[in-house]
Amino acid sequence: MTSDSAYPHLLSPIDVLGGQLRNRVIMGSMHTGLEDRPWHHSELTAYFVERARGGVGLIVTGGYAPTIRGWLTPLGAQLTSAVTARRHRSLTAAVHEHGAKIALQLLHAGRYGYTPFAVSASASKSPITPFSASEMSARSVDRTATAFARSARLAQRAGYDGVEIMGSEGYLLNQFLAPRTNHRTDAWGGTPEKRMRLAVEVVRRVREAVGEDFLLLYRISLIDLVEGGQTWQEVVELAQRLEEVGVSIFNTGIGWHEARVPTIITQVPQGAWADLTARLRREVGVPVSASNRINSPQMAEQLIADGSADLVSMARPFLADPEFVAKASAGRADEINTCIACNQACLDHVFVGKRASCLVNPRAGRETELVLGPTRQVKKVAVVGAGPAGLSAAVAAAERGHVVTLFEAGAELGGQFRYAMRIPGKADFGETLRYFRRRLEVLGTTVRLGTPATAADLEGFDEVVLATGVRPRVPAMPGVDHPSVVTYADLLAGQVRAGPRVAVVGAGGIGVDVSHFLTHVDTDLAGWKSRWGVADPAVHRGGLTEKDLPVPPRAVWLLQRKTTRIGAGLGKTSGWAHRINLRDAGVVQLTGVTYERIDDAGLHLLVDGQPQLLDVDTIVLCAGQESVRDLAEELPGAHVIGGAEVAAELDAERAIRQGVELAARL
Ligand code: FAD
Ligand code: NAP
Ligand code: SF4
Repeated sequence: MTSDSAYPHLLSPIDVLGGQLRNRVIMGSMHTGLEDRPWHHSELTAYFVERARGGVGLIVTGGYAPTIRGWLTPLGAQLTSAVTARRHRSLTAAVHEHGAKIALQLLHAGRYGYTPFAVSASASKSPITPFSASEMSARSVDRTATAFARSARLAQRAGYDGVEIMGSEGYLLNQFLAPRTNHRTDAWGGTPEKRMRLAVEVVRRVREAVGEDFLLLYRISLIDLVEGGQTWQEVVELAQRLEEVGVSIFNTGIGWHEARVPTIITQVPQGAWADLTARLRREVGVPVSASNRINSPQMAEQLIADGSADLVSMARPFLADPEFVAKASAGRADEINTCIACNQACLDHVFVGKRASCLVNPRAGRETELVLGPTRQVKKVAVVGAGPAGLSAAVAAAERGHVVTLFEAGAELGGQFRYAMRIPGKADFGETLRYFRRRLEVLGTTVRLGTPATAADLEGFDEVVLATGVRPRVPAMPGVDHPSVVTYADLLAGQVRAGPRVAVVGAGGIGVDVSHFLTHVDTDLAGWKSRWGVADPAVHRGGLTEKDLPVPPRAVWLLQRKTTRIGAGLGKTSGWAHRINLRDAGVVQLTGVTYERIDDAGLHLLVDGQPQLLDVDTIVLCAGQESVRDLAEELPGAHVIGGAEVAAELDAERAIRQGVELAARL
């Protein structure tokens, strides 16, 4: 810790039962997919080593099952044998070389297991997994507690500094704790005390197995956000009993995976759940770590300084920037590549069995294969277009030592991202532009704003990268030039204001976002919680109550020609929340439409073959995009990336990844 640092609380060491951490920053557990297969061991090691070198105090691994029945996925990560434990030794040693500590997370998936032999407190099926779980016998419950202890002992032999017991997010221990999923009447259910018994037994047996000189984190669910979840009194009682049997640190979790309240995605206000951490901190004597929707050193520092937490756990921010802590402590926080909570390349990947990475940092999880080493041959590189693709190519090429000139036709950097960041709840997208802008400054890259590059401007460069992106598609339909028609770009740039009745043509990601923009009502944090029906768990079990929805400022019709469900193509871990936003704002969703014409009366449609007139003031076109490729035709030798290459199914994940991958090859 440097006393003159801007983050004196965050960067100060902390003594806890089982050891000392060099600062208060925990890299929270994230399943990357690399844990599951032994042959990814060196990639997993490289991934952790980058983060240890980047200054984090304590790393928590992805979840390892203590038994086969606890698998998250078939043949998923488990720590049940000495052979596996031995393999981890080189990983823990490599992390220790960089001064960080590392704890292995023990996670029993319970009814969230994607396997036909999933088990739970009672026979049940979760709404988000395909298999029904069978009820564990009393003997099996007891054996499971012992299995946690055996795995913790193996983790200790493997060189880990501690374990984290996953007791939140609706996994097995949480399932035992809540009457929603625990209907038992034996010694493991029936009363709050008996429902807690498994969690308490697990911690007791783990502590007995590993001794005092080992970190024991317990991830406690502060608010379940499901019907039949725990009450606050039960959470506190549990925490106090767990403290008695040997917890070193309480890490915190918010909401079950099946909860229908967003807890970590972009639209969740930053630090939204810290009040609960502060409340728990007053009830226990061991340190408590805040988590969920904390993505900046400023917010993390504030939470510790104001007494809301003793430590801060951030997971996705370490995918976005392994050097988060090092940059903060070196006074370079403005160079942190901020996690924008999009979930697109991390959780959305994991949920479809793909390796986790990061939209703003495509090297995450690919540290050994996507290497940006110094170039042996310095080249003059022109990058045309400063949207996500051009920005990432320019920064990555300059980091390798190339001499880069970035041309941007607009007055500011960002391309389509400038529109994205105007969507309510997506303001963090602006942090990505701040990061790129600052890196270009630090690297001394020549940036020519307000300069539409021509083929003549690009002569004399060794390499030309065309990242000229996309423009909104204006579909051919009679009356499309009527004054009521605007593009999403005109609307989001603030060039036009929509009237009280609006039709949105096209229901892809942008049509959904624009509908949200048109109907959203700004509120403070308390207002956000009431909109989602979040209540005090001391008053309402599970922390849920009736929603209090604000009155939307406009009537909106969202239209598409396909007959598929609107929003079906949105990300698995965020699409449901966008669909709820639309429903709660009363957006009328029409599928299977044919656009007939636009005139002074409004938008004429056929819906299922029947004529319908939408008497609207404004029609916003969100009908996809077309590539801007004029220069590509003129310069056949140039590299074309992002939307300029292919507009269909383009997103910023692809745009940024292509920029970095190209720069690695130049
Ligand atoms: P662009 O962003 O189009 O950038 C191209 C740039 O090139 C522009 O700045 C343009 O001015 C410049 N240019 C063009 N011609 C020239 C020239 N001759 N000389 C100099 N400069 C030139 N994606 C996601 O992944 N997740 C989201 O949640 C998301 N939300 C979105 C929400 C909205 C409302 C919008 C509009 C988009 C959203 N996107 C999202 C899409 C994302 O913004 C685009 O996929 C991404 O911006 C495409 O990047 P690009 O660099 O290829 O092109
Ligand atoms: P999109 O998903 O391709 O949607 C385009 C929409 O326009 C579709 O609903 C399409 O539906 C309609 N359309 C296409 N051609 C049309 C025509 N000629 N006339 C009328 N309607 C037409 O693309 P987008 O919404 O423009 O988004 C661009 C990219 O940004 C996407 O890749 C998206 O993933 C990304 N994005 C992501 C998010 C996110 O939250 N993850 C948010 C915003 C954007 P029909 O053809 O059925 O009418
Ligand atoms: Fe954060 Fe998005 Fe990267 Fe995931 S993909 S770590 S949510 S920026």
